[in-house]
Amino acid sequence: MPRTMLTRDRELRARAARVIPGGMYGHQNAAALPEAYPQYFSRAEGCRLWDSDGNEYIDYVCGFGTNLLGYRHPEVERAAAEQAPRGDCMTGPAPCIVELAERFVDLVEHASWALFCKNGTDATTWCVTISRAHSGKRKVLRARGAYHGSAPWCTPRPDGVLPEDREHQILYDYNDVASLDAAVESAGDDLAAILVSPLRHDAFRDMELPDPAFARRARELCDQASAVLILDEVRTGLRLAYGCSWEALGVRPDLSAWGKAIANGYPLSAVAGSEPLRDAARRVYGTGSFWFAAVPMAASQATLEIAKRDGVAERIQRLGEKLREGIAAQAKSHGIGVRQTGPAQMPMILFDEDIERARGNFWTSEAIKRGVYLHPWHNMFVCAAHTEADIARTLEVTEEAFAALSNQISRGYLSR
Ligand code: PMP
Repeated sequence: MPRTMLTRDRELRARAARVIPGGMYGHQNAAALPEAYPQYFSRAEGCRLWDSDGNEYIDYVCGFGTNLLGYRHPEVERAAAEQAPRGDCMTGPAPCIVELAERFVDLVEHASWALFCKNGTDATTWCVTISRAHSGKRKVLRARGAYHGSAPWCTPRPDGVLPEDREHQILYDYNDVASLDAAVESAGDDLAAILVSPLRHDAFRDMELPDPAFARRARELCDQASAVLILDEVRTGLRLAYGCSWEALGVRPDLSAWGKAIANGYPLSAVAGSEPLRDAARRVYGTGSFWFAAVPMAASQATLEIAKRDGVAERIQRLGEKLREGIAAQAKSHGIGVRQTGPAQMPMILFDEDIERARGNFWTSEAIKRGVYLHPWHNMFVCAAHTEADIARTLEVTEEAFAALSNQISRGYLSR
């Protein structure tokens, strides 16, 4: 069915422009996307979204990774619905916080304790604070260009940020042992932590899997300096493995930060820590009015159980590979250079010779007009509710999008 005009979407945008600064904010601001993208959604189910004008999409952004099992997964919804009438945000936590912490500790190999908060930023920030409390040192190393949240110490935008907010940070290049060594060297005897994501998943560029030598070196450097290795699993958590994703490399962090998928869209994030960090975690004052809410914790218990029980990481990897193979074959047949990088279940699709991202924007716009929501410059996410039929339908759409793109290129547009 052809897409209807985005009339209501445009009306809402005009109203928002008056009462929301910039019309929208943060990573969900559709102003950062091509014009064909809707800003507003009125419904989501499984792997599907409906915009405010009623158009349906197969969604490959999945709430920027919060949707792991499918929007409104029945078992997660049941767990949340059972907790809701008993209480959510109360004067004290519900018993399920203990059960959830037990489950987390079982799941995350390095962890002997867990703490819960709301956003990924809460979790990464808490990890950094705990690492300083534990080590009594100040310098925190993080990869140039890596995203760890929107607090002043880590936001990618400069506005409102003071040099003092970043004073004790040193940047290194991901997967570059020499640059990590140099950063550690310049920290002298003041190294509190190395913060690292399990793979390089910066926006706008090809993803990079971790070089095992780099991961091992990060561990070794922390051990030598009695510093803390922090793994930011906010985006990767439960999509690559059921515990930490560096377990496969034989590298265990001291602290790990979790968020996004852990409660299948209910607001919850977590810090998991190993035994030596327990005392620092006890001393640091971390809290928030909503951090103890019981409904997201009940949802998380169900999510963690289902993810492992149903082999979700393997399923989304398989589906992601199908999608990747199909797109690679289409790109080849049209003679268009496309780079698909990172794990198949977190697809990143970027175009060669893409001046100002014109090709990516055109191709994804053609897809969205045909009912497939792809992202032009951020990694995407496959969820367990995607089916082989969804992938097949997606590939029909991407084939049409490639044909349209190829036509543009052959007419001399969108190329050098
Ligand atoms: N770390 C990583 C790796 C992330 O991808 C994100 C969110 N994109 C964050 C931290 C911050 O999470 P949140 O947006 O929930 O604060």
